[in-house]
Amino acid sequence: MEPMNNQEKLLRKLPGVDRILECIQVEQEYADTPKSVLVDAIRFVIEKKRSDILQTRLSDDLTIDQLMSDIRQKIATIMKPNLRRTINATGVVVHTNLGRSLLAREAIEQVLEIASNYSNLEFDIEKGRRGLRYSAVENILCEISGAESGMVVNNNAAAVLLCLETMAKGKEVIVSRGELVEIGGSFRIPDVMARSGCILKEVGTTNRTHPGDYEEAINENTGLLLKVHTSNYTITGFTADVSLPEMVKIGKKHSLPVMEDLGSGTFIDFSRYGLTREPTVQDSVRAGMDIVTFSGDKLLGGPQAGIIVGKKEIIEKIRKNPLTRALRIDKLTLAALEGTLRLYRDPRNAVQCIPTLRMITDSYEQVRQKADQLAGVLEELHDSRLVLSLKTISSKTGGGALPILNIPSAGVGIRIQDMTADSIEKAMRAHDPAIIGRIEEDLYILDLRTVQDDEFSIIVDALKNILA
Ligand SMILES: *Cc1c(COP(=O)(O)O)cnc(C)c1O
Repeated sequence: MEPMNNQEKLLRKLPGVDRILECIQVEQEYADTPKSVLVDAIRFVIEKKRSDILQTRLSDDLTIDQLMSDIRQKIATIMKPNLRRTINATGVVVHTNLGRSLLAREAIEQVLEIASNYSNLEFDIEKGRRGLRYSAVENILCEISGAESGMVVNNNAAAVLLCLETMAKGKEVIVSRGELVEIGGSFRIPDVMARSGCILKEVGTTNRTHPGDYEEAINENTGLLLKVHTSNYTITGFTADVSLPEMVKIGKKHSLPVMEDLGSGTFIDFSRYGLTREPTVQDSVRAGMDIVTFSGDKLLGGPQAGIIVGKKEIIEKIRKNPLTRALRIDKLTLAALEGTLRLYRDPRNAVQCIPTLRMITDSYEQVRQKADQLAGVLEELHDSRLVLSLKTISSKTGGGALPILNIPSAGVGIRIQDMTADSIEKAMRAHDPAIIGRIEEDLYILDLRTVQDDEFSIIVDALKNILA
């Protein structure tokens, strides 16, 4: 008989799935773990070992302890939800990849109430018959924005598509060349236009568009004049664009509807908080725009939603569009949106209660104080390998809002002996919950503007682990 080589020896050592399952199933810890999860984890780890052995990647001997420890880790990974809490220490308040907006407590309470009970979602309690899904938010939308009518769909991209399709399918839509934006995640005005069956008619130039450009482009096949808020860039220098009242005037003269995609959309005048003024929804309604669309989860600070406000007659038509059913808003979102919108009745209250607004309007001093506190708590780890520094940095609102604005912020810079900024970033990200910071000039920094007060202990734990 030929002597077995090391590879064969190792392969023989691999136990069968059933044998491991028997051992692990009787453990108290896994009494409530579904069998399918145990089997998947065991299979995965055994397969991995087999392939490591075959590719001679297994550096040392195979021990049953190591195998079991890998399996336990895999079970834990499978059992963890995929969508989970993350700590945003990037300073980008409306961070699309990290979930954009945190809901206000009032909005969460409304979601809980509606999610766990039957509701009048599409039922008119007074009349005892079928009602409209949009009634939950229509009145409050009109109250805050001053519009005649309003409705909501899945997100703003859907709102734009739906409005274009309803008002101008098969017709030309006139847009300034300076406003043909692309929003991250492949929302591009020309593409949405094509998808809604409209024909894009570009006017003006990248930096300058005049009222005469719209006038000249209007013909018998024109269906709509569209203004798009350039949410994620600004054009500076020798520029000109057509104001809302001017657009409304041209629309009226030619009996054409005028629509605005506000993108972020806010009800708050940020200039009152020392920030750049963003055009508000009220501005657009007051200027006489027929239809205005905006997001629920950007500067508004609510759930993902596409809000449409404007003239009653047009909103009626949009409601009747079969696409509306395909793009309709879910009841949990509707509950969260109502809970958020109600806070806007008192703008000062909104700024206090809606986390997105609070984080954007927090002063530098407030954020600096948080940075001081965090640094203080971390000092108490008394580890000479940890070097902390306080940094004055800039946060961004993000989410295609207040485009080029940097808000002065404060951060804690973290250096650890024998670790690069990249490896600190990686280790913080590997923590559970993951902590997402940023790196500037080779320094790992936590921007405190977006870190919540109750998250300090998580950051301390993560650093403790890293130093251990
Ligand atoms: C963000 C944005 C959109 C897309 O809104 P979602 O709610 O993310 O679908 C559309 N238009 C503009 C101008 C935007 O800024």
